[in-house]
Amino acid sequence: MTQVGILGATGAVGQRFIQLLTDHPDFDIGVLTASADSAGDSYRSAAKWQVDTPIPESVADQTVRRTDPEAVPDDVDLLFSSLPSDVAATVEPEFLDAGYVVSSNSSNERQAPDVPLVIPEVNPEHLDLLAEQQDRRGWDGALVKNPNCSTITMVPALAALREFEIERVHVATLQAVSGAGYSGVSSMEIIDNALPHIGGEEGKMEHESRKLLGEYTDATIDWLDADVTASCNRIPTIDGHLENVFVEFGSDPSVGDVESALASAESAALPSAPDPLITVFSDPDRPQPRLDRMVGDGMGIAVGGIQETATGVQFNVLAHNTIRGAAGASILNGELLAARGWL
Ligand code: NAP
Repeated sequence: MTQVGILGATGAVGQRFIQLLTDHPDFDIGVLTASADSAGDSYRSAAKWQVDTPIPESVADQTVRRTDPEAVPDDVDLLFSSLPSDVAATVEPEFLDAGYVVSSNSSNERQAPDVPLVIPEVNPEHLDLLAEQQDRRGWDGALVKNPNCSTITMVPALAALREFEIERVHVATLQAVSGAGYSGVSSMEIIDNALPHIGGEEGKMEHESRKLLGEYTDATIDWLDADVTASCNRIPTIDGHLENVFVEFGSDPSVGDVESALASAESAALPSAPDPLITVFSDPDRPQPRLDRMVGDGMGIAVGGIQETATGVQFNVLAHNTIRGAAGASILNGELLAARGWL
């Protein structure tokens, strides 16, 4: 078993890491860290547990440590990071200098040319950037990022449609409150309401999707040459981001072509990878967050409402934002790092 640690273990994503790692076949939780306010407390008292299963007994009495390389035991080989991005920007390099491999959720460095932004079913070859990264940065460790939760919901579907030559994508999101973290939006703001702006989210979707769908050659990524525009909205669901996606292609696929490309999207041979990757619903009012966010144990992508538009095709896509969109995505990248010999 590989010993792993969770940086930011008490937060909304950190809790999902614990839930998903508790019975993992290859990874064992060796250390939990959080802010100075939580360090020294038991996990049970430090975490405001929001996950839909009880706190696993195996971690409940573990002591939360401060987020510092010196607080991590020597036998830990892989760190999962779910720190706020501004904290991660300072702290992750300290762990990388100390030789740790870090699989991170935080948005810092996602667009850096030498940092692989990876979804294993979409662009596993981008992981090869790590050799270039170590040369350039002088890190003994290695940093891989997973995309933002709204991007990861849409991109596996777009990847399945690459053969039709994607030229333009418009997406409108309906995002769950857990995407903003435990202290995210206040109940007075979100109950009986919808918020038509999520700071920075649109730019993340527009840039990260083009990097993910880019071609890797000679240690560089040539971002997908397509227009991507996003409109991001927060709605009062707890988990599961639903997105309305409109795509224009260089070719002219039929609705049937699009449906069969989506339904046959390839899974990855990794322990947490869902199979099928994409579940296609024929019922036009699916997928829905409450009904479908746990497709593929929360790691699957659900698509429905595929139809022709005046300029291309539209469909609806849903994924669980703290599982497939965050902790599960980092774990899948950790499994890819292990499979490719980076641990
Ligand atoms: P969160 O609920 O606010 O949790 C933040 C975690 O970081 C907590 O464990 C907190 O510990 C710790 N922390 C805060 N300040 C710290 C500091 N100065 N030093 C060390 N630890 C510190 O946030 P979240 O929703 O889990 O998000 C975590 C990261 O994942 C963010 O970068 C976010 O953008 C990204 N992300 C989130 C989602 C999602 O759906 N929620 C999806 C994709 C990516 P304390 O409990 O001690 O404060």
